[in-house]
Amino acid sequence: MPEGKIVKALSGFYYVLQNDNLIQCRGRGVFRKNKITPLVGDEVVFQAENDLEGYILEVKERKNELVRPPIANVDQAILVFSAVEPDFSTVLLDRFLVLVEFNHIEPLICITKMDLTNNEEKEKIEKYADQYRAAGYEVILTSSETETGIELLNPHIENKISVFAGQSGVGKSSLLNVLRPDLELKTNDISSHLGRGKHTTRHVELIKVGNGLIADTPGFSSLEFNNIEVEDLTFCFPELQRASENCKFRGCLHVTEPKCGVKSAVESGEIPSYRYEHYVDFLQEIKDRKPRY
Ligand code: GDP
Ligand code: ZN
Repeated sequence: MPEGKIVKALSGFYYVLQNDNLIQCRGRGVFRKNKITPLVGDEVVFQAENDLEGYILEVKERKNELVRPPIANVDQAILVFSAVEPDFSTVLLDRFLVLVEFNHIEPLICITKMDLTNNEEKEKIEKYADQYRAAGYEVILTSSETETGIELLNPHIENKISVFAGQSGVGKSSLLNVLRPDLELKTNDISSHLGRGKHTTRHVELIKVGNGLIADTPGFSSLEFNNIEVEDLTFCFPELQRASENCKFRGCLHVTEPKCGVKSAVESGEIPSYRYEHYVDFLQEIKDRKPRY
């Protein structure tokens, strides 16, 4: 039986991509039995009626599932931040990183609008980029205006399902436009999918970029740490996690505990102090969270 990937779901049809063919499929009773609703991103087994139409027979096990937008098997979150307009924010980036790490999705940091930076701003961004690289992240500096850095982005998109994340206005739609100029998406299109248009059916579609797929709707729109517990937070900061191997006490939260590997790595300058400060702030935010009944 042929297999493919759902790239679009609309009006009871699932559009399954197999190699370069798009097959319009209906579901069959099997899903109702298992209470599975096929999602965009699902790997499916289908039966082809002809070259264009078929039936989905089976949804393969998912590696993960995002709720907003509803999409399965997300490999990578491309965290889009502009260097300027709006200014680059490490605290917002760290918040996105925590949410992405917590969901076991690979982050890729993309800093856009580099063409708008002056020398001083450019140096500042390059320094941050190096610090995030030292923490263990991939960081790419781009401009959709001059198309610089796009060739560095392309290989990271191959053979993956990616979802963009980032504030409105940072350049997500512009990036998608550069990656797929033939689609002629309007800038800010991607943000207007966030549900502001009342009468438009909200649906997500995976757009083919080379051998990869990118969701046309950004993910991680809620920035709350709802399901994260205090002891999860160190894992969401890879360099803190590494330094915590030198903490004397098991379960050290790196705040008041003595002989803490994380605090000594911050003191020695190995870990940038802003990363640690954000960790402490987020920890407090999680501690202050009212219990939800
Ligand atoms: P989104 O809300 O994240 O999708 O952001 P958009 O792609 O709509 O971009 C917001 C604004 O920034 C638009 O006016 C874009 O033309 C502009 N913009 C986006 N990327 C760049 C860039 O790399 N360089 C410059 N100069 N402007 C950009
Ligand atoms: Zn510690």
